Amino acid sequence: MFETLGNKLQDILERLQREKTLTDAQVKVAMREIRMALLEADVNFGVAKEFVSRVSEKAVGQEVLGSLNAGQMVVKLVHDELIQTLGGESKQPTLKNEGNVVFMVGLQGAGKTTSTGKLAKFYKEKGRRVLLIAADTQRPAAREQLRTLGNQVGVPVLEVANGETPAQTRQRLNEFQQQDFRDLVIVDTAGRLQIDENLMTQLADLQAALQPTETLLVVDAMTGQEALSVAKTFDERVNLSGLIITKMDGDARGGAALSARFVTGKPIYFAGTSEKLTGLEPFYPDRVAGRILGMGDVLGLIERAQQADLQSMETKKAEEFDLEDLLNQLRQIRKMGPLGDLIKLIPGMSRALPEGFSIDEKQIHKIDSMISSMTMKERRNPKILNASRRKRVAAGAGTQVSEINKLVKMHEQMKDMMKMLQRMSGGKGMGALGG
Ligand code: GDP
Ligand code: MG
Repeated sequence: MFETLGNKLQDILERLQREKTLTDAQVKVAMREIRMALLEADVNFGVAKEFVSRVSEKAVGQEVLGSLNAGQMVVKLVHDELIQTLGGESKQPTLKNEGNVVFMVGLQGAGKTTSTGKLAKFYKEKGRRVLLIAADTQRPAAREQLRTLGNQVGVPVLEVANGETPAQTRQRLNEFQQQDFRDLVIVDTAGRLQIDENLMTQLADLQAALQPTETLLVVDAMTGQEALSVAKTFDERVNLSGLIITKMDGDARGGAALSARFVTGKPIYFAGTSEKLTGLEPFYPDRVAGRILGMGDVLGLIERAQQADLQSMETKKAEEFDLEDLLNQLRQIRKMGPLGDLIKLIPGMSRALPEGFSIDEKQIHKIDSMISSMTMKERRNPKILNASRRKRVAAGAGTQVSEINKLVKMHEQMKDMMKMLQRMSGGKGMGALGG
């Protein structure tokens, strides 16, 4: 499917006369394919229809960018619009110093309990004092599941007793807080296999008693078409503040994310990427947009066309290439989507990387979080990273000192390689990571 959509579009549109601006006919033909791609990615059909008509309106009459053909131009517009619809930039909940209560809701099996554990780990590593509340009294094993996760992460778990009223739970939370104050409380709730009036009332009552600062809907990426009605109903009944999409490590292309976001307009904060506690990542709209379109090849073409941007990146002497530059470049690269192919497009990149160093999304994410945990002074002058600083940075990034050592070493090697390449090319400054 991935190739066919791109090829088909190119074939059809290249046969149409090449114009400077997109014509009504071109857009119409292209959008038929785009709608199919959205449906295959399990985007709700109503959403797909509305989305397509919205982009079509914008597309007709649009100038076709220099090196793109009409088909690629349409895909670019659709891709851009998908990113916007999915929220644009990656966002995270804004927490206060204290008094944060995060209320997790969703259908049974969506991943609420797992995500509660993941969030506990995520925020504990950021220095938060976390308390979990096991409020799923529906399933006998649910509280035990959360207790186990709490133990693994090292945070306490307050278990709601059978038959306890929301007011009593509130009371017990207050008592806990007086003994052992926590600035972030995450509440795991019960779910059902389907939207259920009884459950909604229960959730609304508990929500009223606990007064959460965030109410997050956990949506299984595999939900498909149903994601729309689930998100809509939960939003109507418990007024969501954000979304978490789980199981993005599976086959799902991300259509559920688009549907849920489209109907609620609420930000998608995180993506679940494994069953493990470490399987939580910020949600990146650009990556998911590419995945929904499932058009690595066509997007790749567009990226190549846009390579000019990459090459025009500030030219810099190898000597001055510091960790902040590395971070900025990695982020710029990441914004452009699938990495594997792209990385090869950067002149000198493959040679600049130390042996055995494979660049994948996770790796980039890791490097990002390590450099992000450094002060600007440290990024600009990595030499000052002594043992105690490395220890602090490692803790901040939730990793080991040995990883920081590797990063510093890698940066040194990249610098050396750049110096060498610069000598070879006659000592001029270089764009990107070399060449
Ligand atoms: P709940 O009923 O909403 O609390 O769902 P659970 O947290 O119990 O998760 C249901 C199942 O989905 C469990 O087997 C989890 O391990 C699994 N799960 C949750 N999140 C993810 C994820 O992001 N990726 C994968 N692969 N599995 C997940
Ligand atoms: Mg659960």
